[in-house]
Amino acid sequence: MTGTSIGFIGLGRMGLPMAARLIKAGYRVRGFDLAKDARSRLAAEGGDAVDDAAAAAAADIVVLMLPDSGVVEHVLGRTDVAAALDEGTLVVDMSSSEPLRTRALAGKLGQRGVGLVDAPVSGGVRGAERGTLTIMVGGSDEQIVRAEPVLGTLGTVVRAGGTGAGHAVKALNNLMSATHLWITSEAMHAGRAFGIDPEVMLAIVNGSSGRSGSTDNKWPNFILPGGYDSGFALRLMLKDMRIAADLSRAVGVEPSLGDDAISRWAAAADELAADADHTEIARWIADHAGEPTSAEPEATSPAGTADVSDAPASRGIL
Ligand code: NAD
Repeated sequence: MTGTSIGFIGLGRMGLPMAARLIKAGYRVRGFDLAKDARSRLAAEGGDAVDDAAAAAAADIVVLMLPDSGVVEHVLGRTDVAAALDEGTLVVDMSSSEPLRTRALAGKLGQRGVGLVDAPVSGGVRGAERGTLTIMVGGSDEQIVRAEPVLGTLGTVVRAGGTGAGHAVKALNNLMSATHLWITSEAMHAGRAFGIDPEVMLAIVNGSSGRSGSTDNKWPNFILPGGYDSGFALRLMLKDMRIAADLSRAVGVEPSLGDDAISRWAAAADELAADADHTEIARWIADHAGEPTSAEPEATSPAGTADVSDAPASRGIL
């Protein structure tokens, strides 16, 4: 058992396996989630499940794995939680939050002697279970050094820069990832409609310049097998895309393709179930293949285009 006590708030798809790893590494973990069944699962992992956020906040290091900045600010802004955060406590926000709000929050907490490090992650539920997350960290050197032993239990720590830099990189990464996944899905559907075996196509692309996390992870593991079960919700992906676009605008970079990707993902989110996995986007794109979108340019038929009139219909091919 290590001497550092950890409060863990947010025991969802990511938070629970992360808290379980900390417990196995010998940390005393006091955890809270609004959902009772999440608290029961923490107790089954050997953690100390508490009934309110303030009880979890009475710890040396308080890890947050919550949906977004709004929830993070709500939890930390509660009077009982604020009272439980002693001077010298270090808050580590591992949620994918908004970088500018994170900076403002760090300023407020700092006035009371409470530190804040932003440490969002990439690697999904599997990475959380296996301790192979990429953890992108923003904050002061002193605070990061303090958080590093805990974070090292969960994955590989990469320093992004000052406060908010981790959250900025995370959102920008997800805007890239979502945009890759859209074009990858369109290309995979087109290849299949042309008669190419999707596994063959993925193998070729993964040895070529079109490869990405969409071709070497999402398509082979969650889309081709038909599970659509990566554990990362589509609504959370859309939230991250919007954070990235807002950040881009705030620093004077117009997110042109980013805004286009957001409007496409938003149209899918409007039709899909509220808890749809983000990999459902591939099936949604297949179901809507051939339908023009407002962002689509006029169709052209260049001379020499291959005749694929005998190819299988592209609608509903997944
Ligand atoms: P999730 O919805 O599964 O979990 C969030 C948890 O927070 C839920 O259990 C919910 O009950 C709890 N919660 C909400 N409001 C609360 C409150 N006021 N007090 C206490 N608990 C509260 O989400 P997730 O997939 O675990 O994602 C968490 C964060 O990690 C998000 O910011 C997400 O964008 C990010 N993320 C997720 C993945 C993934 O693969 N799922 C990967 C990387 C980053």
